[in-house]
Amino acid sequence: MEQFTQMYAALGVSPAVYEYGEKALERLRERFAEIDKIAEYNQGKVIAAMQKNRVSAACFAGTTGYGYDDLGRDNLERVYADVFHTEAALVRPQITCGTHALTVALSANLLPGDELLSPVGLPYDTLQEVIGIRESPCSLKEYGVSYRQVDLLPGGTFDFDGIRAAINEKTKLVTIQRSKGYATRPTFSVTQIGELIAFVKSIKPDVLVMVDNCYGEFVETIEPSDVGADMVVGSLIKNPGGGLAPIGGYICGTRECVNRCAYRLTAPGLGQEVGANLGLMTSLYQGFFLAPTVVAGAEKGAIFAANLYEPLGFKCVPNATESRHDIIQAVELGSEKAMIAFCAGIQGAAPVDAFATPLPWDMPGYNDNVIMAAGAFIQGSSIELSADGPIRPPYAVYFQGGLTWCHAKLGILKSLQEMVNAGLVDL
Ligand SMILES: *Cc1c(COP(=O)(O)O)cnc(C)c1O
Repeated sequence: MEQFTQMYAALGVSPAVYEYGEKALERLRERFAEIDKIAEYNQGKVIAAMQKNRVSAACFAGTTGYGYDDLGRDNLERVYADVFHTEAALVRPQITCGTHALTVALSANLLPGDELLSPVGLPYDTLQEVIGIRESPCSLKEYGVSYRQVDLLPGGTFDFDGIRAAINEKTKLVTIQRSKGYATRPTFSVTQIGELIAFVKSIKPDVLVMVDNCYGEFVETIEPSDVGADMVVGSLIKNPGGGLAPIGGYICGTRECVNRCAYRLTAPGLGQEVGANLGLMTSLYQGFFLAPTVVAGAEKGAIFAANLYEPLGFKCVPNATESRHDIIQAVELGSEKAMIAFCAGIQGAAPVDAFATPLPWDMPGYNDNVIMAAGAFIQGSSIELSADGPIRPPYAVYFQGGLTWCHAKLGILKSLQEMVNAGLVDL
């Protein structure tokens, strides 16, 4: 133990903070073992899909130009489709981020006169301009796609009566966001999402359902595509990229929906036939291979944080004991000073840019100043340990990621150390 105390002390974590963390960990053994079981199951799922599709060195070859007959790209899409149990998948470095993947999925499957319904309240910030909730050139609204929303009931449950009333002859696509994003509602389990899908399809059988799966992949043994979603969509610089994918997004779903997405992403008539892989295939395959265990490490970090901060009187969402359906942890710190201290700790634990000090700044597109801590190998990657939050009550910091559990642990211990140093907590 002496050796560990010294190692942590060299990294700026005092023996008191280290000991406090070890005590919390003793209570978490069983919980961590359950997470390892989920990772084991999902690891098997990914390996089986890779074996079935005969992944070989030839799949890792780079292609350029049009990318016709790109073996690696086409095969990776079959691997994704098999893991998500869908007919088809579109997995591309040409999909620049999660918002882009969601935009492709929506704009490919909604036509002028159609209506989009969100039965789970306001969608993620960046989608609001995509839909036209906030005006933007090229929004769906500008193209004649209307939007309707049904808010969650107090307590975060589905308003089934409101949803029934909102579905009409124009309703073409229902969008369900799995993770809470920056909202305060709970994240939905895949089972809950399945119930919601069954409900909307019982009212309108031909309605399409898309699930924004960001931050949810591999947290459970099933995905929304296992419970009736027509499309599941996400970012490769989050969970499924396993930290290695340097860019990209995915859309897994029915052949018909995915074909339309491919025509929208490239061009009508071209679809999935074009799109060179630019030499990124090894990262995309290997990242997907690592994703189940990377996600498990990040989830352990989130649970560890809740179990350090909650006993100190800080509200944690999710709380220290409840079940988890994504890798995001919110901690309400109560002051700007505490947010700065917390983020300094996360930054100070990073393998990259640890010397930088995160400070609140006036980020474009946000009403309040925002603070962000990230020391990532891939810029903006939030499967790597990162924390951010708007400087406004209740001064909540949202944090996620950690490519390894050990790094997530260090980051959280360092955050607590900064809080102690600033006189904000007493252990
Ligand atoms: C991150 C995220 C997005 C957008 O992804 P970007 O890669 O940041 O564009 C959309 N929805 C949810 C729930 C997210 O967490």
